[in-house]
Amino acid sequence: MARRHLSRSDARDIAEERVDRLFELAEKEGVAGNDERARRYVGLALKMNERHKVRARHKRKYCPECHVYFTPPRNVRVRTRSGNVAMTCLSCGYVLRYPLKSKKVEGA
Ligand SMILES: [Zn+2]
Repeated sequence: MARRHLSRSDARDIAEERVDRLFELAEKEGVAGNDERARRYVGLALKMNERHKVRARHKRKYCPECHVYFTPPRNVRVRTRSGNVAMTCLSCGYVLRYPLKSKKVEGA
């Protein structure tokens, strides 16, 4: 496949599309229970993100440690506590924490 010369912003648009597509595939595989394949897609998408400086979307959809695609409740446990969310990767045990930005805090 010959590579045509693209402007940087064109290349980034294409990269963004590919990243979206890879995450779609990762989701499909994740839902089907194919964690290894999902991991591969996530890994490829992250590499693409890095190379093209695509802004990070799809955050919290995968494990930053082992790159498994989160398909709750099968391979991730999600807990909310005092305005924070903790996602525990059931594949490697990594805990991802982030503030729950919601106007209404449940069980507060
Ligand atoms: Zn993990």
